[in-house]
Amino acid sequence: MGVTPAAPGLVDGFGRAIRYLRISVTDRCDLRCRYCMAEKMTFLPRSKLLALEEIAIIAERFIGFGVRKIRLSGGEPLVRRDVVELVERLGSHVGHGLDELTMTTNATRLADHAVALEAAGIRRLNVSMDSRDPALFRHITRHGDVDQVLGGIAAAKRAGIAVKVNMVALKGLNEHEIASMLDWCVAEGHDLTLIETMPMGAIDEDRTDRFVPLTAVFDQLSEQFRLERDLAGTGGPARYWRVNGSQTRLGLISPLTANFCDGCNRVRLTTEGRLYSCLGHDDQVDLKAALRDGGVAALDDAIRLGIAGKPARHDFRIERGAAPAVSRHMSVTGG
Ligand code: SAM
Ligand code: SF4
Repeated sequence: MGVTPAAPGLVDGFGRAIRYLRISVTDRCDLRCRYCMAEKMTFLPRSKLLALEEIAIIAERFIGFGVRKIRLSGGEPLVRRDVVELVERLGSHVGHGLDELTMTTNATRLADHAVALEAAGIRRLNVSMDSRDPALFRHITRHGDVDQVLGGIAAAKRAGIAVKVNMVALKGLNEHEIASMLDWCVAEGHDLTLIETMPMGAIDEDRTDRFVPLTAVFDQLSEQFRLERDLAGTGGPARYWRVNGSQTRLGLISPLTANFCDGCNRVRLTTEGRLYSCLGHDDQVDLKAALRDGGVAALDDAIRLGIAGKPARHDFRIERGAAPAVSRHMSVTGG
């Protein structure tokens, strides 16, 4: 299915072409990972959310503007009812304007959805799993069951979907498990991306206590694994290494110790319809209001306005006692 091109493409004030849209389809989640959310969260009332049809219209305008990759995220995307219908609609653009449609999920409900997601055009998934130890996983997520996640990953693999595991490195919690997670990913044929905890949104603890610089983790892993730098760029924040003798790629997302903004090609749409052009800034444009008040022409103008204002770089720092760099949680903009 084609989309009417809305030329010219989206280029920000620093010459970066925008090719990647992340969409948070819900701010809700069935888990409460300690570094991501507080135990008691106030979620948006349903009346404030974009309808799935509106999400599709906005996404299709971005495809018309030259966006080649869309990732659905959240919150937990698979807790939004009918999300598979959205995947089917956007999946119809893969190969017709869109290179890839993908999703980041906690996989608690993946076992039930893997076959439908594959049929709708999803070929790769990011699955967050910070530990394979049942007790530690339950502690980090506050009540999650890692067997559901492992079952979801296995179902995705059976359905022919490639899985990349996301693991946030957490001091005193899972840092000792990073090497064994990489071993497991090598054995299972998955990729692994390690992530530094980012100062986004208030949680119930001080993130400084849990911060692990990935530079140190990488040095340790290099002693145990033969890692070869993989320079095939994704325009994303991760730097990649191949684990020698395997199919596995190790990715490091280290916004605190290695800034990745120069090549940033992505923007983010919240479930409330706000376009954030940078994860680390509060600047945003209200696409929902533009679409509802002025239709597609006003939407296009609002999208251009948002891209023109994309900041040069984020300004994340982890400082004891400091307020988060941005007040919204990662779940609002979908990671
Ligand atoms: N619920 C889904 C999941 O967990 O995969 C998708 C949304 S979640 C916000 C997307 C990614 O952001 C996950 O890999 C999660 O670990 C990561 N994340 C959440 N809060 C973070 C933070 N403050 N710093 C770094 N990564 C974070
Ligand atoms: Fe939910 Fe994902 Fe945040 Fe964990 S990281 S609380 S699974 S949105």
